[in-house]
Amino acid sequence: MALVEIRDVHKSFGDVEVLKGITLDVEKGDIVTIIGRSGSGKSTLLRCINALETINGGEIRIEGERIAADMPNLRQLRQRVGIVFQAFNLFPHLTVERNITLAPVLTGKIAKDKARDLARDVLARVGLAEKIDAWPEQLSGGQQQRVAIARCLAMSPHLMLFDEVTSALDPELVGEVLKVMEDMARQGMTMILVTHEMGFARTVATKLVFMHQGRVWEQGKPAELFADPRTPELRNFISSVK
Ligand code: ADP
Ligand code: MG
Repeated sequence: MALVEIRDVHKSFGDVEVLKGITLDVEKGDIVTIIGRSGSGKSTLLRCINALETINGGEIRIEGERIAADMPNLRQLRQRVGIVFQAFNLFPHLTVERNITLAPVLTGKIAKDKARDLARDVLARVGLAEKIDAWPEQLSGGQQQRVAIARCLAMSPHLMLFDEVTSALDPELVGEVLKVMEDMARQGMTMILVTHEMGFARTVATKLVFMHQGRVWEQGKPAELFADPRTPELRNFISSVK
């Protein structure tokens, strides 16, 4: 059984069908990179996997469990599936420590007196242990994004979703965030990420998915897809991002 099973998923907004039958498997330990033009449905697909959107057809299973935006144990799903967005979503009025420990303490995942240890542990994994008492505004964009990743890690997710997490960063800050994601990949975290970082897609991903007009247009091993794109759409896309 794959960790994530996506079967013929359809999603519309009003009359507009944005996902037109997506089928995709993600195995435990896979690093799946989704590429494609703006508007091809990449973010919508990620949001469906985390049940932030209701799908109109097909099904998505995570660890065998069928997920839906109205499922009773949605909170438990969100603990298993972390998501990080392009915009840094830290709470500006909370320190780094409180940003990280808020959810684990509120959900009873960890006792209050163990919270600081947890924050220290996950911050060390993103190389920011010394920022535990900082405020978000005191951090660079890259550091804020690494805290956002640490905050997800604090829930011990089984799967992490990343939606263009480096797109809003100054170019010199992109590398530090990619490195954190690469470290997580090496440690065996299953990840699905939407990115324009073709270097990452080429070297770290175990599977590359090219989306076009709401469909999985091509998928396979990154080296093979980059070397030998089968469709003109992927060929054009690759040459446009090079
Ligand atoms: P991508 O992430 O590949 O750029 P998106 O998944 O964000 O694409 O969007 C795919 C299409 O769905 C776009 O045409 C977008 O305008 C539309 N869309 C996305 N979210 C909504 C929404 N909440 N309401 C209406 N249309 C939406
Ligand atoms: Mg998007």
